[in-house]
Amino acid sequence: MDEKTKERIAKHPCYSEDAHHHYARLHVAVAPACNIQCNYCNRKYDCANESRPGVVSELLTPEEAAHKALVIAGKIPQMTVVGIAGPGDPLANPEKTFRTFELIAQQAPDIKLCLSTNGLMLPEYVDRIKQLNIDHVTITINMVDPEIGVKIYPWVHYNRKRYRGIEGVKILHEKQMEGLQALKEADILCKVNSVMIPGINDEHLVEVNKVIRSKGAFLHNIMPLISAPEHGTHFGLTGQRGPTPKELKAVQDDCSGNMKMMRHCRQCRADAVGLLGEDRSQEFTKDKFLEITPEYDL
Ligand code: SF4
Ligand code: SF4
Repeated sequence: MDEKTKERIAKHPCYSEDAHHHYARLHVAVAPACNIQCNYCNRKYDCANESRPGVVSELLTPEEAAHKALVIAGKIPQMTVVGIAGPGDPLANPEKTFRTFELIAQQAPDIKLCLSTNGLMLPEYVDRIKQLNIDHVTITINMVDPEIGVKIYPWVHYNRKRYRGIEGVKILHEKQMEGLQALKEADILCKVNSVMIPGINDEHLVEVNKVIRSKGAFLHNIMPLISAPEHGTHFGLTGQRGPTPKELKAVQDDCSGNMKMMRHCRQCRADAVGLLGEDRSQEFTKDKFLEITPEYDL
């Protein structure tokens, strides 16, 4: 890895394994809507692309989110990154998402900005992402073969129309690939998350890994499907199991010869605060942080 890239990831706890011991991140939950349906998603909870099942984050306006970021930057000096990861898809809520980033960039330009998306609207917004100096983008890519994708995505809503079945999945796949390419061309670091779903895409993830690597993804994070009773019911009446730790490690190992794999992901909440693995979100609920005047010095 070259020096410039090392420097870019040095303070991002998800992109650098070393950094995750020292630096903290904040997720602000400003994006409620989503434009696709994943079979593992229950809309009552946060987007499962980056989050734990069974968690409901407190929704914020962009102004509240920027206030929260400044309060926390003052209280937790190791907080280097603010990300938007839900509770729906950030790019299905472009106004709220970009307004939040603009406000934070204006008031705290040294905080790194980070975004996580299903990729459907990514090609449309890469220029805007670049303009705002968002240097880290995560795309959740669970398949590169639409025949496998139909088992994961029942529909996709694109350009004011709902596409069901393979037609929708093909659009999603195309946009994810275009988005990945566009990030590479714009020199924005891209992490790919893949949710491992036994019997559906487990054997296919090595292929996903190959394709994303060839398109310039920086890091691959294969996450286990966490099947809680309230999730996975779309896969069938009996639900869908998640992989065992052994199964997950085997797939990660199969891919690790090819590119950098993330193995320290904690599947955070859409309003996570603190070091990875640490949950301080209850210290900064809306009723608490709105009472605090930010003590953040530029
Ligand atoms: Fe749910 Fe996230 Fe999938 Fe949208 S992208 S359906 S919010 S898991
Ligand atoms: Fe980082 Fe994983 Fe948490 Fe996202 S869900 S912030 S990748 S540790």
